[in-house]
Amino acid sequence: MEIGINGTMKRRPVVAIVGRPNVGKSTFVNRLVGSRESIVDDMPGVTRDRLYFDVEWTGHHFTVIDTGGIVPGMEDEIMMSIYTQAQIATEQADVVIFLVDGAEGITPVDIDIANLLRKSDKKIFLAVNKIDTPAREAMVADFYALGIGEPHPISAMHGTGGVGDLLDLVVSELPEFVPDEESKPIRIAIVGKPNAGKSSLVNALLGEERVIVSDVSGTTRDTIDTEI
Ligand code: GDP
Ligand code: MG
Repeated sequence: MEIGINGTMKRRPVVAIVGRPNVGKSTFVNRLVGSRESIVDDMPGVTRDRLYFDVEWTGHHFTVIDTGGIVPGMEDEIMMSIYTQAQIATEQADVVIFLVDGAEGITPVDIDIANLLRKSDKKIFLAVNKIDTPAREAMVADFYALGIGEPHPISAMHGTGGVGDLLDLVVSELPEFVPDEESKPIRIAIVGKPNAGKSSLVNALLGEERVIVSDVSGTTRDTIDTEI
């Protein structure tokens, strides 16, 4: 289940971004990647798979995982897959950023996710997104109730100060890693018409369910980057 490694001791640290759909996970990741790599949409649940990006913050190199939302208790096949994907991301991560929506406040799904994350032994940062204006800062303290510790206000969309402060804290928790320029991997693209079996092929190569496979055409809406 290791990712982003070359089988050496030099493993690239991993940060997973988890949270329910539509809280701004992909917006946050795009800010870190520096481009619109991850699909952002007003429709909850657009990022269905886990997406991996190699990024750098103040000289610290790590992989960030953007996940579909965790939605416990939903029967629907795709939603269950999203839940599983996010759980795997947490298992693979050195540090987890749990993103919530400061404009909406705490929702029952946030509480379920908090309960799940509290069982993990990983370092978890609680980030309260969509704090775009000083007026919204009053909401932030409410999120102490999730029992995850200090809520960190950010605005992923506007990239205000809080984003940088949070990332400084996150990288301070990551294990030491020096990227090896020599070991740049060969890049292979798998393309084909919808439902041809691209995701099944990737999963077979990886030996794990990295990509959601579904009978529904077009389940993988983003491109998936992964290393073998
Ligand atoms: P995800 O489902 O958690 O990946 O959420 P997205 O990144 O797709 O964002 C969901 C919606 O929230 C989009 O309409 C974003 O533009 C919006 N959004 C994300 N971050 C912010 C923010 O900091 N402030 C505000 N006001 N909206 C945001
Ligand atoms: Mg998303």
